[in-house]
Amino acid sequence: MSGDEREQRDAVDPAAAKPDVVEEEEAPSTPFDHPFFLPVVLWGFAIWFFWDAWIVPMEEHLKFNQYGSVILMVAAVYYTVHALRERRAWDCPQCGEKNPHDSSLCGKCGGAPA
Ligand SMILES: [Zn+2]
Repeated sequence: MSGDEREQRDAVDPAAAKPDVVEEEEAPSTPFDHPFFLPVVLWGFAIWFFWDAWIVPMEEHLKFNQYGSVILMVAAVYYTVHALRERRAWDCPQCGEKNPHDSSLCGKCGGAPA
């Protein structure tokens, strides 16, 4: 934004005159940000569907529970693996780049993990 535009905006809207830094504030982290939140929810529903499909079959919704349990288990495994890989990733001490756990050198700068 050029200086002229900034002055115009500030003249029109006094609320917009606050420094731009305010927009960069990070929201506080919530339990939903936890990497294992989604896998835990998916496993919960997968077990529920599995139970209603095969352990104590609900005759009226049998196909729904059978397909649902398979889809949910595939999704649960996928997101569990994803969360585990995320947790084992390392941040490069030289450049701050996030690297997969199975790489021994930073992909960006070639640095070694601390
Ligand atoms: Zn690096």
